Amino acid sequence: MLKIENGMCGMCAHFGEHHGGDELVQIRISHEAPEELVEECGNPEMENLHLKVTAVSSCDGYEPIREAG
Ligand code: SF4
Repeated sequence: MLKIENGMCGMCAHFGEHHGGDELVQIRISHEAPEELVEECGNPEMENLHLKVTAVSSCDGYEPIREAG
């Protein structure tokens, strides 16, 4: 497993934005993601390019996920 810190794609609101799912929720809680995990970036500036990123990638378009509750 890879350790995910704030500022990395795994903690970004745009990481796998359009399909979500339990695996992503789990990553945000545990701050860990499988090495092989790749998700599409949903940032509007990159969306048309279908950029795929790993949980430990990052860019200046990072947006922190909104905490539930
Ligand atoms: S590439 Fe940038 S905008 Fe897309 S998920 Fe990663 S940090 Fe977020």
